[in-house]
Amino acid sequence: MSIATNIYEINRRISSAALRVGRDPATIRLVAASKTWPAEGVTEAAEAGQLIFGENYVQELLAKALHVKEPIEWHFIGALQSNKVKQLAGVVSLIHSVDRLSLAEEIEKQWGKLGELCNVLVEVNLSGEETKSGTSSAEAARLVREVARLPHLRIRGLMTMPQFFDQPEEARLSFRSLRELSEIITAENIPNVEMDELSMGMSGDFEVAVEEGATLVRVGTAIFGYR
Ligand SMILES: *Cc1c(COP(=O)(O)O)cnc(C)c1O
Repeated sequence: MSIATNIYEINRRISSAALRVGRDPATIRLVAASKTWPAEGVTEAAEAGQLIFGENYVQELLAKALHVKEPIEWHFIGALQSNKVKQLAGVVSLIHSVDRLSLAEEIEKQWGKLGELCNVLVEVNLSGEETKSGTSSAEAARLVREVARLPHLRIRGLMTMPQFFDQPEEARLSFRSLRELSEIITAENIPNVEMDELSMGMSGDFEVAVEEGATLVRVGTAIFGYR
């Protein structure tokens, strides 16, 4: 299957999943997770109409951004070290993986220098696995309140990457928990915080995520093939 065919098919499946639960398919955006795939793959996807690409490694993102000429949007979706933030300033339009205040403060500093706003999601680790990045659901509201005070950051919602399941259905409760957490935080009416985005769902489970309210699905393998 070509990248273009895969993208077409995934968008079709996103639409069907949305319609099954009475959602408008236009409220869901596909993020092509392009880590390890060369710039040519990104260009091919962009030519097929794909607009948003998510990367996990700063150097890789910057190298690809130099090569790809199509007008695409870059998101950062991986674990982010504070000392790499500077290089992302002005390049990415959304960081999905803010999981600690120190990282948010570095983003504040670097976007502040540009005099621009950085859109971010707070990453939540719902499974409580030590090895995973993300703040715990118990700590998430507090982190949101702290990040909301930083003038050059704008919180747009939450992101999660559930533990690996064999069956997509098994991820449903995690996705639902993220949505519920988002509703709890929304009810706090914190200034500077918009809880409009839920970044959840990957190749194996994006339809379940859409049924549970995802607005951004991050899909790699189903677009580009196995890494
Ligand atoms: C790689 C990656 C994805 C996509 O995973 P696939 O299973 O290849 O679709 C989504 N989110 C993050 C954070 C990733 O690193």
